[in-house]
Amino acid sequence: MPIYEYQCDDCGKDFDTLRPMSQADTAIACERCGGAHTHRKLSLFFAQSEGQSVAGTSGGCGSCAGGHCASCSPN
Ligand SMILES: [Zn+2]
Repeated sequence: MPIYEYQCDDCGKDFDTLRPMSQADTAIACERCGGAHTHRKLSLFFAQSEGQSVAGTSGGCGSCAGGHCASCSPN
């Protein structure tokens, strides 16, 4: 899910939130004053591929990923 950044027109607070793309332009309440007069700033897309490098990087043999199966080298 992408992170979107919003700014409150009432109090000027900047805040960002993680939400589905389909809701990017849906109104969101200001997290400081609760006002509904917010607008979306430029989108930031850096939260896209989190969890990509999980498989086979830390211990284990890739089929068990835990370090305790017949294919793992015995320690
Ligand atoms: Zn506000």
